[in-house]
Amino acid sequence: VLDCKQHFLFNKHMPNEYLLGIDLGGSKIEAAVLNQQGELCFSHRVATPQGQYAATLDAIAELIHCAEDALHLRFDQVGIGTPGTLSSVTGAIKNSNSVCLNGQPLREDLSQKLAREIRLSNDANCFALSEATDGNAADARSVFGVIIGTGTGGGLVSNGQLITGANGIAGEWGHNPLPWPSPDELDATTCYCGRSGCIETWLSGPGFSRDHEQHSGKLLDAAEIYQLANNGEASCQQSLDRYIDRLARGLAHVINIFDPQVIILGGGLSNMQCLYTEVPKIWSRYIFSDNVLTELRRPKFGDASGVRGAAWLFKP
Ligand SMILES: [Zn+2]
Repeated sequence: VLDCKQHFLFNKHMPNEYLLGIDLGGSKIEAAVLNQQGELCFSHRVATPQGQYAATLDAIAELIHCAEDALHLRFDQVGIGTPGTLSSVTGAIKNSNSVCLNGQPLREDLSQKLAREIRLSNDANCFALSEATDGNAADARSVFGVIIGTGTGGGLVSNGQLITGANGIAGEWGHNPLPWPSPDELDATTCYCGRSGCIETWLSGPGFSRDHEQHSGKLLDAAEIYQLANNGEASCQQSLDRYIDRLARGLAHVINIFDPQVIILGGGLSNMQCLYTEVPKIWSRYIFSDNVLTELRRPKFGDASGVRGAAWLFKP
């Protein structure tokens, strides 16, 4: 970081060489500065003020000033990643699990408060953009980035650029119904979005946990089920097998539409290493092609992809 700082002092006239990203999460807000090569030059995080919109804006402003003071630079552009989507109708945040953001014109408020150009994108989009730019999908022209964690999200990248979509929801596969359902999957759980049988209700961590409890009577979280399956516990292995089959179907559905070269998994459940070998063995049953070249890959940056992708929102 010191080397970077020296570098900045001599390059003040070229601020566009550097990109500032903010990851606004439910529990923390993180800032990062990358250079054009993707090297991390500055990073700092603070706790998210819980349920307080105005204090959240203040915290973001403070982080930006902190980065600028440390690097002796002013950033005219700031990329921000956050849960939820910017409504293309009202300009307000929708679908965010940080509920104090919902209904707020976050981009507008930040650009006024900060007098800077703000680009705002969904956290799953930032994940996809990060991995497609200099992560484990940097060699691919078409990428589907998938978050499987407390919820399910997704983002699409084509030729290095995010596909945002007419409604701002491109890649949001989690609220389609689970495809090719078996008869026992038709009696589905209601999702927070108001529909039932959503992919998210099966493939999120809580969804995996709920399915295991329904079959075994035991309440375990996703990491525990995975651990016990690896230790040879039969009911956990069966739950894991069902999860793998459902993930294969959910991804096959996307491959049939977008046909990406690479799918990258992120979020807590992407740590289940068996997914990368087992899911591609199954998905070809559901894909409309005699030969499937799409590759399923691990993330390179993991949790750091949110803030990195936010910075890359202003990549040239
Ligand atoms: Zn839903």
